[in-house]
Amino acid sequence: MPKQVNCQKEDSVTQNDMNESFEEEVRAFLSDEEQLHLFDDLTKVNPVTTTTVLKCLQARYTVNLFYTNAGCSLVALNPFQPISCLYSPELMREYHVAVRPQDLKPHIFAVAEQTYRNVQSQINPINQSIIVSGESGAGKTWTSRCLMKFYASVAASATSPKGNEAVERIEKRVLDSNPIMEAFGNACTLRNNNSSRFGKYIQLHLDRFHHLSSASIQTFLLEKTRVAYQAPNERNFHIFYQITKGATAEERLAWNLPEGAHYRWLPNSERNLEEDCFEVTRDAMFHLGIDHSTQNNIFKVLSGLLHLGNIQFSNPVDESQPCELEDKAKDFVKTAGDLLKIPVEELLQSLRIRTITAGKQQQVVKKPCSRTECDTRRDCLAKVIYAKLFDWLVLVINESIYADTSLWTSFIGLLDVYGFEAFPENNLEQLCINYANEKLQQHFVAHYLKAQQEEYASEGLQWSFINYQDNQSCLDLIEGNPLSIFSLLNEECRLNRSSNPDLFQTRIEKALSDNQCLSRDKFSKKPNFIISHYAGKVCYQLAAMVEKNKDPIPPELVHVLQNSKDTLLQKLFPIAETNQNNTKTQNRAAVVTVVSKFKSSLENLMQILNSTEPHYIRCIKPNADCQAMTFRKEEVLSQLQACGIVEAITISAAGFPIRISFQSFTDRYEILRKSRRSSKNNACDKSNYHTAKKKGETAAVDDNKASHSVIAEILQNVVTGQSAA
Ligand code: ATP
Ligand code: MG
Repeated sequence: MPKQVNCQKEDSVTQNDMNESFEEEVRAFLSDEEQLHLFDDLTKVNPVTTTTVLKCLQARYTVNLFYTNAGCSLVALNPFQPISCLYSPELMREYHVAVRPQDLKPHIFAVAEQTYRNVQSQINPINQSIIVSGESGAGKTWTSRCLMKFYASVAASATSPKGNEAVERIEKRVLDSNPIMEAFGNACTLRNNNSSRFGKYIQLHLDRFHHLSSASIQTFLLEKTRVAYQAPNERNFHIFYQITKGATAEERLAWNLPEGAHYRWLPNSERNLEEDCFEVTRDAMFHLGIDHSTQNNIFKVLSGLLHLGNIQFSNPVDESQPCELEDKAKDFVKTAGDLLKIPVEELLQSLRIRTITAGKQQQVVKKPCSRTECDTRRDCLAKVIYAKLFDWLVLVINESIYADTSLWTSFIGLLDVYGFEAFPENNLEQLCINYANEKLQQHFVAHYLKAQQEEYASEGLQWSFINYQDNQSCLDLIEGNPLSIFSLLNEECRLNRSSNPDLFQTRIEKALSDNQCLSRDKFSKKPNFIISHYAGKVCYQLAAMVEKNKDPIPPELVHVLQNSKDTLLQKLFPIAETNQNNTKTQNRAAVVTVVSKFKSSLENLMQILNSTEPHYIRCIKPNADCQAMTFRKEEVLSQLQACGIVEAITISAAGFPIRISFQSFTDRYEILRKSRRSSKNNACDKSNYHTAKKKGETAAVDDNKASHSVIAEILQNVVTGQSAA
């Protein structure tokens, strides 16, 4: 939309005058250090710039004020230490019963309560969503958990389910979904000891009495590679450590997990984390209807995966023979086969031999896999089992917490989604994550602009402004039709040929050269492309990207899983469904790639979000070392950039960055209304006036018309004063 600043051009004042005067305003603002922490809304910081905003956040952090409003967002700084009473039931109640919760100190409970009230509105009830974002370790999951506790408390259902005391109440079941999801989906990484390796959108359904009556969970992009590969100093998913540390002697025997045994896929197990508590996970599973025997089955399969990880192949002496196994590895294959209830010979065959059907007669040829291929197959088997198990758990949780739509009338959605990522090396995972963030950013900006428009309209200000470039072209580059990075990636998978990253780089450049968001790191020898995201440039490596997008499962692996005698694996790999998938895989045109799956689940999410009123909580990690009371400005600034707060500041600054109340405006300029000034004063007022007018000064007013006429009179006096001078 074309936007322009709605004020006349004043030739008599130079750009320099204006800049100097603006700088002066910034300096004056920052000099009042005692006051900085009092700004509980960043858009009211005056003038609003990244420097002033950062100073305010820092001042607030120093005095233990971790929450600050930023227009329609709430900025949440991670204290990295327990703060007493910050999330107490008493505080929840205080926000819940307040006449105007938004008048209390900024807090996630204020957002939660406002959201709860909006959904109950008699005039305009609309479903709500709270979008919690931020980088790894910023506090998204912590925040989402606190929000869930808030609703479990203020929207507690009146009765137990169907009057049945034996079934846990819905609030308890909803809260119990957290330890399960975290045990199976979180891991200790370099950036966060309890890092969520998946995205989550949970809907809390309310009945007509506004009680929590049901819920549902949707997950995105589980980082399943972690099962078989953990970066140095990182760990596998918590659940593996929980079973190896928490199993009873009897269970160790049944699951074949002797104390002190070594597993390659279980690095850093000497580290003891709070998250290693097996008991909590088991109790939660039980409350959600996963009985002891099913739990036993799950843990046995997980132990099978750990044994699978210990299988190591070596090159055969004769290349026409399958890879060899060391003696120890033979034991691991046997144990893995026993635990997964797959005959050892079949398991070995699926890992070492590839079956090729070729020729007109569809002859079946068996070829031994190379050592690398065997390793890839072993890892793939573990990943596919774990990913299916995770999805199945989500399904079981949903069955336990979801009630028929006739039993609820509205919902509040909580989105805990990975923030923007830019590592030294980025690949398909980062592309998907950053694509999701671009989508959410577009959603945020549209909502923010709308909110600003409404605010100005409520003050009777005419507006048609803001020279603002949105991120549509970046989204076109990633997902657009007919040509985009996603479409080219999918095309490459569909052709089912071995992809050459160098050629693919050329194809991308040729097809998408018109898009200004695309470039390349010309100094790098590795094939790559750079996308200019709203939060900064990210260089993506093309090596392995096509393969990752295909995410193929060798049919031999599917076959052994289908033929397992294990009850759980039979549920995870039903013959009918997997056969269907196989036929699909053979049908080249119908390859379902990682990006197409992700795109469609994100589109589905965006549709839901677009039908709700959004609220944004931007979690910020004040330092990368997770230290309490340490605020590093550069780190905070880059996060404010990544979460769109800087963009919001830019939008504010392009509109009316200096906001003063009508009262303070008249206190300051009333004198200009009554008297002609000396020419000395004229110069000073002239500069103030131009700062005000150029940068756009707004006055919050009760009676727009009356106050506008007072302001007009003052401004008129300034203008006549100027011409007289
Ligand atoms: P990831 O993207 O890796 O999942 P995240 O944003 O979900 O990260 P959390 O796991 O919520 O991050 O938080 C990281 C850690 O920070 C928590 O384990 C906790 O120790 C601390 N933390 C977060 N928020 C708070 C808070 N409000 N008060 C005290 N500690 C907190
Ligand atoms: Mg998390």
